[in-house]
Amino acid sequence: MLIAVDNLERLVRDIFRSHGCSEAESGRIALYLVRANLTGHDSHGVIRVPRYVAWLRSGEFVPNQSLAVVSENATMAVLDGQYGFGQSIGPEAVQIGMRKAGESGAAIVALRHSAHLGRIGEWAEMAAEAGLVSVHFVNVAGSQLVAPFGGVDRRLSTAPFAVGFPVRGRDPVILDFATSAVAEGKVLVAARGGKALPEGSLIEPDGQLSADPHTLYGPYGEGDAPDYKRGQGAIRAFGEHKGSGLALMCELLAGALTGSGCAGPGQKRFCNGMLSFYMKPSFFGSEADYAAEAQRYIEFFKSSRPAKPGGEVLLPGEPERRTRAERLKQGVPLSNDAWRAICATAEDAKLEVGRYPVLSDAA
Ligand code: NAD
Repeated sequence: MLIAVDNLERLVRDIFRSHGCSEAESGRIALYLVRANLTGHDSHGVIRVPRYVAWLRSGEFVPNQSLAVVSENATMAVLDGQYGFGQSIGPEAVQIGMRKAGESGAAIVALRHSAHLGRIGEWAEMAAEAGLVSVHFVNVAGSQLVAPFGGVDRRLSTAPFAVGFPVRGRDPVILDFATSAVAEGKVLVAARGGKALPEGSLIEPDGQLSADPHTLYGPYGEGDAPDYKRGQGAIRAFGEHKGSGLALMCELLAGALTGSGCAGPGQKRFCNGMLSFYMKPSFFGSEADYAAEAQRYIEFFKSSRPAKPGGEVLLPGEPERRTRAERLKQGVPLSNDAWRAICATAEDAKLEVGRYPVLSDAA
């Protein structure tokens, strides 16, 4: 089905409003989840609503929370999200990093115990909009999903990594990905009847490669909430030994160094840790020179002859911008299964789903 951005945002906002989140926080949750859909990352969009509500009810996510400053100086801050929504804690932490980098040239911000921070590229975009370069290492305590290179047992979270690089006169370069072959949300999308997984994204306990979401979730029926704790298999780390190594660094930097906790061992409370670096380009020299060299290099990079006829070399961030432009015009497509699960959550909150009309019911 297809739904216009404003109706989808209103529906998500009203769901969280009816679960005790403030007007402002409900608005932020809706805004950032829908923005993930707009960039094409449906895995980190509104499909998360039923799970967020379940975690709100179980006390895993704390509504209307603000972050606590554990320690800080001019260029560093250690922040505790106190399990508040990532859509509230994330922008608060980024603002602190941006302010310090704006004043001192660079800043390092260690964020621990944030509830799900969603699409990490969002935070790199926020810094890039303010003219700052940023690098983000993220992990998820309480979420062992990924087998390291050479192993079958889950040891890592999907541990995303993001870099934002603003270039004056053109859109910023935004690299943002999970260090797993696919983000868990993409397995969830596939389990809910959405886009199928690439072959070999998952691994069975006997080492067989798989693209079947049951490898991760075990048995589930139509309408069930797939639960990764029920499956025996794992997602594979991306990029063989190199991706597995980057994932390990995300766990160490975002989990151990920030104090948020690594993916294991043992059962931990679900939260994101994020170690972020912010840099002000003018601190490194002439901003005009840096922008001109970056422009020249980007053109050179993109001018590589396409590997396939009609193909094109894209910059990280370009696919997201194109999808955003398209979906803002045409509406957000959702699988019928994902939509049904959101509607069930809305009805459970005594909302009348008819008040949020869809553009088309077609799958
Ligand atoms: P992905 O595999 O779609 O990769 C996205 C990156 O690759 C983007 O930078 C994109 O611009 C770039 N890209 C895509 N196609 C390209 C092309 N043809 N040419 C050049 N660049 C291209 O992303 P993913 O690994 O599935 O991650 C999805 C999202 O999940 C990310 O936003 C990530 O932050 C988020 N995530 C969040 C958490 C969390 O705990 N909060 C955990 C895992 C993932």
